[in-house]
Amino acid sequence: MDAKLFTEDFKITPYWWEAAPPRKINDPLPETADVVIVGGGYAGLSTALELARNGTKAVVLEAEDFGHGASSRNGGGVSGTNVGKGPTAGAISPVEKALGKQRMQELLAGGAEALSNLEAMIEREKLECHWVRCGRFVGAYTPAHFDTMVEKVASLNAAGDYGAALLTKDEQRREIATDFYFGGMTIEGSGSVHPAMLQMALLDRCIEQGVTLCAHTTMQAISAEGDGHLVATSAGIIKAREVVVGTNGYTGKATGWLRRRLIPAASYMIATEERGEDEIKALIPNTRTMADSKRVLNYYRLAPGGRRVLFGGRARLALGDPRECAPILYRQMLDVWPQLEGIKVSHCWTGGIAFTFDFLPHMGRHNGVHFMAGCNGAGVAMMTYLGTQTALKILDKANRPCPFDELPFNSRPGYTGHPWFLPIVSGYYALRDRMDRARAA
Ligand SMILES: Cc1cc2nc3c(=O)[nH]c(=O)nc-3n(C[C@H](O)[C@H](O)[C@H](O)COP(=O)(O)OP(=O)(O)OC[C@H]3O[C@@H](n4cnc5c(N)ncnc54)[C@H](O)[C@@H]3O)c2cc1C
Repeated sequence: MDAKLFTEDFKITPYWWEAAPPRKINDPLPETADVVIVGGGYAGLSTALELARNGTKAVVLEAEDFGHGASSRNGGGVSGTNVGKGPTAGAISPVEKALGKQRMQELLAGGAEALSNLEAMIEREKLECHWVRCGRFVGAYTPAHFDTMVEKVASLNAAGDYGAALLTKDEQRREIATDFYFGGMTIEGSGSVHPAMLQMALLDRCIEQGVTLCAHTTMQAISAEGDGHLVATSAGIIKAREVVVGTNGYTGKATGWLRRRLIPAASYMIATEERGEDEIKALIPNTRTMADSKRVLNYYRLAPGGRRVLFGGRARLALGDPRECAPILYRQMLDVWPQLEGIKVSHCWTGGIAFTFDFLPHMGRHNGVHFMAGCNGAGVAMMTYLGTQTALKILDKANRPCPFDELPFNSRPGYTGHPWFLPIVSGYYALRDRMDRARAA
C-alpha cells in the first residue's frame, strides 16, 4: 500500500456514507404479511413504497443494516442507456445481435422509462438526494469506438427522449479537461444522484407509510405453503401471500435458481481529497457524469458541491480489499487527468453487482416467488423501476407488461453461481482494450 496516496483519515467505506450512513431499523418480525420483500436496496424499498402507497403493507428483510448493499455504494450516475450493453466497447450490443433492432429499441425505450420513473418518484416523494439531470459524456477510447457512436447516437434518439449527440476530439474539451479520448457522445437524458441519500430517503418514506423494516434478518429459505409461502429467516418464520426477492449482487444459495442466473461481480470507487472548487469544476465544466467506451469501463463524476472527484471502475471483478484497488483506479484517473498528480485519496470502497448471461436486467416469477435482478452494473434507475413494476404487478395495476418482465432468463450448463471464469474473462477484456488502444496510437 502506497501511504503517500492516502489522506491521514483515509477510509475504506463509501464517501457517500459521510452524509448518509447505513441504518439499523429493527422492527420485530411479524408472523404473517401480505408481501415479504428480501433485500433492502433500491429494488426492495421501491417495491415496498409502491405497495404501501396503494394500501398494501410489506415487510422488508435486510440481512445487514439498511444501506449495506450496492444502493448506497454506487457512482450515482442515472442512465437508461446501458440496457443490454455488454462488454462491446461501443459496438452493436450482443442483445441487439441476438434479438434484432426492433426488440432492442423496445428495451432501450424501457431504459428511458426507468429513468423517467425515477425522476417522477424523486419529485413525487420529495426524495432529497442531489438529483440533477446533468447529462452524461461517454469518451471514445479509440477512433473505432467513436465511429460506432455515430450509430449508437441515432439508435438512442430513435428509442427515446435521450438527446444524444456526437462530439469530435476537437470539441471534447467543452465537456472534459482532457485530450485522452478520441471524441465521444453526450446524452442529455441522464442525471446524477447522491446514491446513499436516495436510499435513505426511500427508507424514510417507507417508515412514514408503515412498512415493516427488519434489519439483520437474513432470509434462509422460501417454501410453498397453501396459496402463499413460508419464509424462514434468522429471526424466525413468517408466512406471506407474496414474496419478492431483490438481492441482486448479494444473492445467496437460499435462492439457488436465481443465483445460477447471475454472475456476481464487484465494482470499486475512490474519492479524492477536497480541492478548490475552481480547480475541480474545471475538470468537468458542465458537471456531467462521465464514462468511457472500454470493455472494462471507468465511470466518474464530481461529488455534489464540486470539490472532489469520484472515480470508479472494475479494477477487480471480485469483492476484495479496496486498498489494493485504489492505486489501479488512481492510475486510470491520472490517464484522464495527469494534472491531478499528487492529489490524495480519502475513500476507497467496493460493492456487489450482478451480470446476467444476456446482459439484460430481469424481473419475473419462479415457483411463485417474484424476483428482480441483473443490474449489469447500472441499476440506480433500473432497479427502482423494476421494484415499482413488481409492486404494480402484485397489485394488478400495471397498464402494460414491463419490457423486462418474463424475458427468457437462462443460465449456463454446470454453472452454480460461482463465477470462477471472471478473472480470465476480465483479463481478456482488459487485454483487448489495451491492444485496441495501442493500435489506435
Ligand atoms: C461501486 C459501484 C458503483 C456503481 N455505480 C453505478 C452507477 O453509477 N449507476 C448505476 O445505475 N448503477 C451503479 N451501480 C449499480 C447499482 O448500485 C445497483 O444496480 C443497485 O444498487 C442494485 O440495487 P438492489 O436493490 O437490486 O441491490 P442492493 O442495493 O445491492 O441490495 C441488495 C440487498 O439484499 C441484501 N440481501 C442479500 N441476501 C439477503 C438475504 N438472504 N436476506 C436478506 N437480505 C439479503 C443485501 O444485504 C443487500 O443490502 C454501481 C454499483 C457499485 C457496487
